[in-house]
Parts: sequence; structure tokens; C-alpha cells
Amino acid sequence: MAGKGKLFIVSAPSGAGKTTLVREVLKEFADLSYSVSHTTRPPRGDEKEGLDYFFITPAEFEEKITRGDWLEWARVHDHYYGTSRSFVEDCLLWGKSLLLDIDVQGAAQIMASGLNPVSVFILPPSFEALSQRLLNRGTDSKEVIEKRLANAKAEMDQKDRYRYVVVNDDLDRAKKEFCSIFKKEMGQ
Ligand code: 5GP
Repeated sequence: MAGKGKLFIVSAPSGAGKTTLVREVLKEFADLSYSVSHTTRPPRGDEKEGLDYFFITPAEFEEKITRGDWLEWARVHDHYYGTSRSFVEDCLLWGKSLLLDIDVQGAAQIMASGLNPVSVFILPPSFEALSQRLLNRGTDSKEVIEKRLANAKAEMDQKDRYRYVVVNDDLDRAKKEFCSIFKKEMGQ
């Protein structure tokens, strides 16, 4: 039953509302799985091990780089993030569709891999709206927010490499557009 699963990659600058849209689409499509990434950054808020991320040390991450365990990996905002090669390959082998929430560097690696992903970029309505959302979220220090905003501009420059671009100007409208992409691509 190989070959029926679709691989979706979703990228956005932090604060664009990606987590909300991703949760919505996972709720909507029971046959879509989420690839839980590994990271060396500390847990934020009420993030749970194995649910939001697998939290590992830089030494563990680097050992997995050496072993070739990552399908893709990147350093984002001073921390490592990576996708397990075996998890993704197993899912696709069994015909399961999978969603990867990864940054633009990781997305470029998957796009170059021959896996032919369906790629979606989520844009905030404006740069000002993005900074406001990061401030309102209240989960990051001022220093972290400044770093994230500096990266956001460079990330948004990559949006044209994606098959779909969704502007999160109005959450309900963006949810509908985002879900319709998955519906169409999964042939439902
Ligand atoms: P956050 O720290 O806000 O959860 O995530 C920061 C950035 O890292 C986001 O852009 C997110 O998409 C990205 N990210 C999360 N997991 C992975 C991963 O496995 N690989 C890559 N390349 N980026 C990831």
C-alpha cells in the first residue's frame, strides 16, 4: 500500500498563526498525521514532551546528525530542530499523509529531496501585525522576540518557493482556505 500518503510542509514566521491553523487541519482530517519534531530549545509554556516536540540535548542532536537520522534539520533562532527520517519514511511507506511544521531551511531540503511535498506558506497580514502578535503571546522574552522578528523578514522572502501561500488576515477565512488545500490535495 505504498505511495498513497501525501507529504505536506507548512512554514511561517513565528507569530503568523501557524500553530492554530495546523491544529485546525489535524482536527479536521483524521487520516492526517503530525510529525513531532526534535529540538534543543527548552519547552515553552505548557508544551509537552512527545506531543509538541521531543526535547533533546545539543549532544544528542549532533550525534543524530552524524548518524544520518534527520530527514532534514536546521538551526533556527539559535537552537537545533530536526525531523526524524525513519518516522516520515515509515508513514509514507504505509500510505499515511503527514504534516511537517518546519522552517524555510528545512523546507528547502525536503523540496530538493525528491519527496515532492505539498508546500504551504502562511503569511501574517503585515509585519506590524506579526510583532504585535509576538508581544501579545507573552511567552517569549523581549530579546527572543527581537531575534524572531529579524528572522521573519528573511523567511517571508522565501514564500514564492511554496506551492500555496495563505494570508492569515482573518482567522476563520484563513482556516477555510488552509483546510481546502488539504481537502483538495488529499483528494477528499
Ligand atoms: P518554535 O520554537 O516557535 O516552536 O519553532 C521555531 C521554528 O522552527 C518554526 O519556524 C518551526 O516551523 C521550525 N521548526 C519546528 N520543527 C522543525 C523541524 O523539525 N525542522 C525545521 N527545519 N524547522 C522546524
